[in-house]
Amino acid sequence: MNRIHLLSDEVASQVAAGEVVERPASVVKELVENSIDAGAKQIEVLVRRGGISLIRVVDDGCGMNRDDALLSLERHATSKIRTGADLAALHTLGFRGEALPSIASVSRFRLCTREHDAEAGTEIQITGGKIDHVRDAGEAPGTQIEVRSLFFNLPARRKFLRTENTEMSHVEHQLALQAIGHPEIGFVFRTDQRLVFQIPATTSLHQRIRDLWGASLADELLEVPPMERDGVRIHGYVGRAGVSRSTRTQQLTFVNGRAVENSVLTHALREGYHTSLMKGQSPITFLFIELEPEAVDVNVHPAKREVRFREPSRVREAVVEAVRAALESDRERWSATFVAPEKPVEENAAAAESPSATQTALPLPMENLVIHDRVEPAPQTSSPTPAAPPPPLPEVRHTDGWVVTPEPPRAIPVGAPPPERYAPGTLRVAPPLSQTTFTGNASNPAGDAPSRSFRLLGVLGSLYVLMENEGGLVLVDQHAAHERILFEQLQRRIEEQGVPVQRLLVPVTLELGARDSDWVAQNLATLQKMGIGMEPFGAGTWKLDSLPQFVRLGDPLRLLREVIDELRTVSSSTSKLRLGEDVIAKTVCRAAVKANDILREPELIRLIEDLLRCDLPYCCPHGRPTMIQISYSELEKKFGRKV
Ligand code: ADP
Ligand code: MG
Repeated sequence: MNRIHLLSDEVASQVAAGEVVERPASVVKELVENSIDAGAKQIEVLVRRGGISLIRVVDDGCGMNRDDALLSLERHATSKIRTGADLAALHTLGFRGEALPSIASVSRFRLCTREHDAEAGTEIQITGGKIDHVRDAGEAPGTQIEVRSLFFNLPARRKFLRTENTEMSHVEHQLALQAIGHPEIGFVFRTDQRLVFQIPATTSLHQRIRDLWGASLADELLEVPPMERDGVRIHGYVGRAGVSRSTRTQQLTFVNGRAVENSVLTHALREGYHTSLMKGQSPITFLFIELEPEAVDVNVHPAKREVRFREPSRVREAVVEAVRAALESDRERWSATFVAPEKPVEENAAAAESPSATQTALPLPMENLVIHDRVEPAPQTSSPTPAAPPPPLPEVRHTDGWVVTPEPPRAIPVGAPPPERYAPGTLRVAPPLSQTTFTGNASNPAGDAPSRSFRLLGVLGSLYVLMENEGGLVLVDQHAAHERILFEQLQRRIEEQGVPVQRLLVPVTLELGARDSDWVAQNLATLQKMGIGMEPFGAGTWKLDSLPQFVRLGDPLRLLREVIDELRTVSSSTSKLRLGEDVIAKTVCRAAVKANDILREPELIRLIEDLLRCDLPYCCPHGRPTMIQISYSELEKKFGRKV
């Protein structure tokens, strides 16, 4: 007796459905992608009970005639590719011709579709893969698909579904992905009774993000300056340094318009953020990567979530560069001048109110870091400030974040090296420190960034430097701030002079496992550049005879283990060197001002000044924030002045 037979189409579809249709969100994904491929301008989605009882997707795309509508429900029927060569250069989201028959085989399925110039449309009703009826229908042009009772005929599969709420949140995430990927399409999303979102078509990705997630998220983002490197084009938005999430749900990456998950991209993002990302956190990204379709293989996973790059390093390097460019562009937001105007604050406030004075507030060029002395004697002296009552805050907060100074600013050299260390003093600085004002520069005339003028108020708990700006209260963690300053200082020194090396008086021998030993052998040159000198010393054993100078000698094996683990995750040689920064960062932490070191006023001023000069001033080398802003509106909410 023959044992082998062909599966019926129905069963074959159910098998395929197992791969394509994992849960309601997968149905939503396939249907919405079809609508996008059909050129829809508007897509409406209705979901009941987490998508288990109903999913309806309505679009105003090209629609289908009756023959095509019937064919679309056959396995491997597609209008999107014809030959294997087409598969290598996809321009559409779909191509497998599997989604509709798969979905129809595991649900009660209804398709209504009409081409724009057709007199009548077609309605097809299918239950568990069997056609119930095909008839004329008078719906609006476009396509409407209803999927009811998902997995009604596959109880095992149905048992794997989570709660309705969980399924709903997957659906919502999926729709958010599609909506971000296609701002030019309007989306409406309804659940049982609720309108979840209704977002208009827009040409602006930023507007789309704002429409979906609100201004609070949109304001935390930086534009990735559109760039092209080696044929890879990148644009989009990423979270500012120090802005992150504990999950990857807001790490959105798109390759040629398709939302994808890809470990090359995840690693590249981490590498781009590097020290701007807290351990264990994920960045927020809306990153669009375009490259020639031939260089991407989408045909990896039936749900097309994954892609493979033909040359991963080409993509990775472009992404790293794009992220870094975005983070560094943000430097201008805080990059600041330190201004202590020569006239008392009251007079300045008055000057600010006079229109002629406002006219003089010309944007300062980026490199114009200036210092004004207003305190007499100069603030560099360590004489304690007399405990006079703080001058009243200026009533008028000037426009655009400019502090109006009647006198032209006096420039000081930008590259003046910051002090090695902020020696803890014994003198507690009592308020007022109000005579010191730090002013932002003119690099952002659009005025969308928060105020760039800071006034020192005092120190809280020997740790938090309190400042005010136009937006409200600014808190600086003096320890984190000092870490950032030292970190960049060391980085610069290493760039210029190489890693200073200390030779060990007594070389340490280390026994590494076979794997690590092999890795070390392959990467001796990189380690050498980082100041780690090693020589083979018999099977699996190494002699360590030098270390970077700034590393404490306590536990060389642990240091080495950290370095190996971190370097393993990257492959290109430039990245390996960059990762040497991590070692620096960790070491710097120990040398930085302790949380409760009491700083004298001039030291505080210097600290803030140096911080604002850093490339990435708003987070420490471990990605923790150095500054936080508590806005007036937050304060007003807390005091019940505003709801
Ligand atoms: P694929 O998208 O991989 O081609 P599907 O099973 O998802 O396979 O769809 C099969 C075909 O049905 C598509 O190629 C397309 O021609 C047609 N189709 C599906 N959905 C729509 C829609 N919303 N509007 C117009 N045509 C559609
Ligand atoms: Mg499809």
